[in-house]
Amino acid sequence: MTAESKRKGPRLEKATRGSAGAIIPVSFDQDLCIACNVCVDVCQVDILLPNPTEGLPPLVAFPGECWYDGTCVSSCPVPGAITLNRLEKDRVRFMRITTGQEFFT
Ligand code: SF4
Repeated sequence: MTAESKRKGPRLEKATRGSAGAIIPVSFDQDLCIACNVCVDVCQVDILLPNPTEGLPPLVAFPGECWYDGTCVSSCPVPGAITLNRLEKDRVRFMRITTGQEFFT
């Protein structure tokens, strides 16, 4: 790691964006998702819609309305099926004391 990159810290991942440029607040692992639509039901601001194609993950219909509270992720019965893509400004950077390795939440 160079002195410059130590000062700036690691680069944050770019926000996940859809084809229209909107930030996509959640993403699905199509192999893990069982299309139970629990995440659709628990979303407090109704940004998700059941996929009209049976067996496929829900659709993110209103990405700009997301509160990023993570209820969809914590309610999902399949770990890893849905991921919350936090905004870069909301991520926290940590450093392991023992190794100096930096990581984000
Ligand atoms: S992401 Fe999880 S809660 Fe949502 S439909 Fe898939 S399996 Fe169900």
